[in-house]
Amino acid sequence: MPYDLRRSLTVAYPIALRWLRPDTACSALFRNLGADGPKTLSSTLYFPAEVTENPPCWRAAAFTRVGGRVTFLCEGFSRLPASRAAVILLHEALHSAGVDEQPHDPDALTSSQITQLVARTCFSSIDGLSQDRVDDVR
Ligand SMILES: [Zn+2]
Repeated sequence: MPYDLRRSLTVAYPIALRWLRPDTACSALFRNLGADGPKTLSSTLYFPAEVTENPPCWRAAAFTRVGGRVTFLCEGFSRLPASRAAVILLHEALHSAGVDEQPHDPDALTSSQITQLVARTCFSSIDGLSQDRVDDVR
């Protein structure tokens, strides 16, 4: 794992975990899927993705196969502010918990909508993330 990616992961992970406290709407996102947020997060394996070899990285900070335990972090992940990176970790954890996405599933939310949902539900104002700044994050 390149240093920059590891550093961003190390900073964002505890933020995401904090948002998943049992009494939060954020943890309910997972509970409603029959999943446990903290467990989903802690059973995820993180690997670096090569931008050139992975088309998803051309427009995303990370990607995860639906139901998969491995999240690939793209180079861009290391350039995200901590709160945005935490939003991405939870977006990816939702894929691990079974949430699909357009265009793979036409009836699912778009990548951007999932990110917005996580940001709206999990973000706490003390972390200083503004809604309009997560628009371009996949
Ligand atoms: Zn996604």
